[in-house]
Amino acid sequence: MSRLDGYMAKQFHIALEQLSRSVIEAKQLGAVNQLLQWCKSHSGYYDDYPEQLQSLDEITMLPFLTAQTLAEHCQELVCVSQSEISRVVTMQTSGTSGLQKRLYFSEADQQLTVDFFACGLSELNEPGDRCMILMPGHRPGGMSYLIGQALEQIGAIPVPCGYDKTFAEMAELLQQQQVTTMVGSPVQILSLARYLRHYQLPHRIKAVLVSSDYLPETVRHAIEETLHCDVYDHYGITEAGLGFSIECECHQGLHMRENDLLVEIIEPQTLQPVPDGQWGEMVFTTLTRRAMPLIRYRTGDKARLLAEPCACGSIVKRMDKIPGRIQQLEDCYCMPVLDELLFQLPQVMDYQARYSSVKKQLYLHLLLTENVMHLEQKVDTLLRSVLQKGDTLQLTMDVLCEINRYAVKSLYAAKRKLIQEDGHETE
Ligand SMILES: [Zn+2]
Repeated sequence: MSRLDGYMAKQFHIALEQLSRSVIEAKQLGAVNQLLQWCKSHSGYYDDYPEQLQSLDEITMLPFLTAQTLAEHCQELVCVSQSEISRVVTMQTSGTSGLQKRLYFSEADQQLTVDFFACGLSELNEPGDRCMILMPGHRPGGMSYLIGQALEQIGAIPVPCGYDKTFAEMAELLQQQQVTTMVGSPVQILSLARYLRHYQLPHRIKAVLVSSDYLPETVRHAIEETLHCDVYDHYGITEAGLGFSIECECHQGLHMRENDLLVEIIEPQTLQPVPDGQWGEMVFTTLTRRAMPLIRYRTGDKARLLAEPCACGSIVKRMDKIPGRIQQLEDCYCMPVLDELLFQLPQVMDYQARYSSVKKQLYLHLLLTENVMHLEQKVDTLLRSVLQKGDTLQLTMDVLCEINRYAVKSLYAAKRKLIQEDGHETE
């Protein structure tokens, strides 16, 4: 069963046997009403919101918050004094507006994330496991730091690695520290896996947790086959306190953190709720955060909830894997779609993509483990279904060799993006 069931029963102070859908929903309604009271008494932003709801369905009467709200009203949305803020995260909003959204967290808010991470990481870590963290944020409150705290909570040993080391340095750390599990972004882990395979470097990895980016099926299977390990997908965004949902050992959808988050899926044009099973936009309400709670925040991510119960026996609701951001999936080229196709070539460690709508040219720079015979033809065949009429493909590449073997790094210092030469970038 998903580890979330036991975790949620503990958070609700009830026995596991008592956990049911009606209990979860009653707890969520109670939490929403406490949240409304908290927000109304601690922030001027919520003056027009109701005192309380009679049922969870009534949440659809409340207005939405968007990235723009977070950029324009971030100070008003804060519900605690400055001294109670332990972390501030500033992020660029997508699009060309140049607005920055800001999120505030208290110590207790961060602890909720650590507790959820501990639950999620226990899906793949036993006490004594040594988990390499390929994530930024080693300093207190940062992502790597919180993951490290969560690992210690379950008796596993964090091995911080960061995300900007060379693959040679990562491979060495894996061996030196006898690492058994890893946490990182999907493509970075695949790149490392293909690097290890190419140089036939030994490792003891039994499972990895991937987060921070969408997990293409091609990438999942390639990691599983290359490292001979289990792959657990995790969805987390900063606005939701980094942790959101995690796969159980059935790997058929991600169980959601329903004690801390109330999740809705809406039709992005009409803004009306859609039934379980139908795709729409992910919207969530933070139920337990205090510094800067979010009520009905629109993520922009394409998502759907799964109606059927999971084969693991959990009663915690699941969402399907996120295919990408709605806006990006509408572009003619986007990373999730290109990833799905290009990583089918077993020599591709990573690539950068750039598109010029003026020159009608898709430019790809590939990082390869070895030379590929008839590469252009193979890439052309792979991309045939997505290449727009009249567009041409231009390829350049780097190939692993004795000269760059110890210097090769991930091609991206931060999130992977497709660069549009007219200015905007799509993830
Ligand atoms: Zn399950």
